Amino acid sequence: METENSVPDLYELAFMPGQFRCPKCGFQWSIQTINVAQGKIGTTEENRQAPDCPNDGTRMLHVTYREQLEAYADRLKEELDNRDLEKQSHDAEIRRIATELGIPWPCSVELIVSGIREVNQLAMRTKF
Ligand SMILES: [Zn+2]
Repeated sequence: METENSVPDLYELAFMPGQFRCPKCGFQWSIQTINVAQGKIGTTEENRQAPDCPNDGTRMLHVTYREQLEAYADRLKEELDNRDLEKQSHDAEIRRIATELGIPWPCSVELIVSGIREVNQLAMRTKF
């Protein structure tokens, strides 16, 4: 149990507990211990020792909070970029359908949906 006067754990202040990254291949490994009795997830002295990378045997490095936050920021940016690309692709597809239906672009999605309904109804009528 920590008290206000307890000495801070410098390892946990400097590094993401139990996070290691291989400088050679970039593999990141999380080694943590669950202490059910204390209700904590963290590291022990043994699993604070940097392991060798399981891919290439290179000694792994401790991951700092800054490195991890930068990795999270890069991942978030990548996700947002992908989302923008998906939206552009989605918009291009809607535009293609509108053009195919002869609906002037830009238009609302509702207009395209009603255009698709009309085409389907026309197709049903010609079928029977
Ligand atoms: Zn590696």
